[in-house]
Amino acid sequence: MTTWSKRTKAVHTGTRRSQYGEVSEAIFLTQGFVYETAEAAEARFIKAGTDEFIYARYGNPTVRMFEDRLAEMLGYEDCFACNSGMAAVSGALMALVKSGDHIVSSRALFGSCLYVLEDVLARFGVEITLVDGMDNAAWDAAIRRDTRIVFFESISNPTLEVVDIRHIVKAAHAVGALVLADDAMATPIYSYASECGADLAIISTTKHVDGQGRMLGGAICGSRDLIRGPIETYVKHTGGAMNPFTAWTHLKSLETIDLRVRAQAEATAQIATALAGHPKLTSVRYPTHADHPQQALALSQSVAGGTVIAFEVDGGRDACFKFLNALELFTISNNFADAKSIVTHPATTTHQRLPQDQKDMLGISMGLVRLSVGLEDPVDLITDLKQALNAI
Ligand SMILES: *Cc1c(COP(=O)(O)O)cnc(C)c1O
Repeated sequence: MTTWSKRTKAVHTGTRRSQYGEVSEAIFLTQGFVYETAEAAEARFIKAGTDEFIYARYGNPTVRMFEDRLAEMLGYEDCFACNSGMAAVSGALMALVKSGDHIVSSRALFGSCLYVLEDVLARFGVEITLVDGMDNAAWDAAIRRDTRIVFFESISNPTLEVVDIRHIVKAAHAVGALVLADDAMATPIYSYASECGADLAIISTTKHVDGQGRMLGGAICGSRDLIRGPIETYVKHTGGAMNPFTAWTHLKSLETIDLRVRAQAEATAQIATALAGHPKLTSVRYPTHADHPQQALALSQSVAGGTVIAFEVDGGRDACFKFLNALELFTISNNFADAKSIVTHPATTTHQRLPQDQKDMLGISMGLVRLSVGLEDPVDLITDLKQALNAI
């Protein structure tokens, strides 16, 4: 690894130039690669060198540039890029467990992750224990000698629960379990998964890496042994690899990610401050903000809490819908980390299908609103939020 800062790595790391010496990274839209001789083909199938490729589902020069860049940015040795965040999460899990293994996971999970754990893996005889991710004692009690994987979102969606990664890593490593952090909400700029010892950081690159609402993508970052061992083997044979066009747009996006995410996180903190104590709201949540119950833990792990804020509107669904419909700048949608600011009502959209008792347990009330803060001027965003709150 170089001594460059993350911002510099985001522009330069991993660049491979063709014989033309292009400045901007080339896009290699090719499935296959030719061999000079039959002997060369045979040799490559025995062992491909670093700049030798066989088939785009296994690897591609544009995808490899993206993998090398992202791995260094997140502080890991290597990375395998996938065609969505869920291809990365399910690929990493499937690659590492077998029937009879035990997984401990936080219960506040992205819906599709919960499906992979509780429906798919359970069907193959993997035992899952779900815990309150904020409760260190619950992790200690659930992790046992046959636990193979410990899984969590470093910051949960949509209620912004923060997990104590260092504590969980210690408990997991004591029994030889691997720690997998679903790191989308922490953002690649403020990610602390590697620093805190997580074995794999899995990110949906659909979020801040693309950052402009265009591409689906995902990535698994970790040690070379894990990534080029079981993870690559599983993902390349089951079809989850990233396509070169996505990798190329992601490389271009990484050039600006530091500037974008820094501006978005700053704006998010400003909005949290502007909304705190508003008479129409019963709570405002942003991890590194004074009103968040885990502020100290959040600040011990990172300087910023991401680009998403959650708050509760007094008056439940009716008041919430009035507020959403009165917003002029925020668009109603369900993604986050777009350049355009987005507002979501989780209870009736992204988390609609969750049984009521689980919604209650996770704090997904009818009054809960999630904001994804984009790249607009925060003054305009605050003005829009205040006028819409007044409309309730
Ligand atoms: C978005 C997201 C995913 C899934 O990513 P896709 O790119 O939509 O497949 C998984 N986990 C978390 C925490 C996410 O935010």
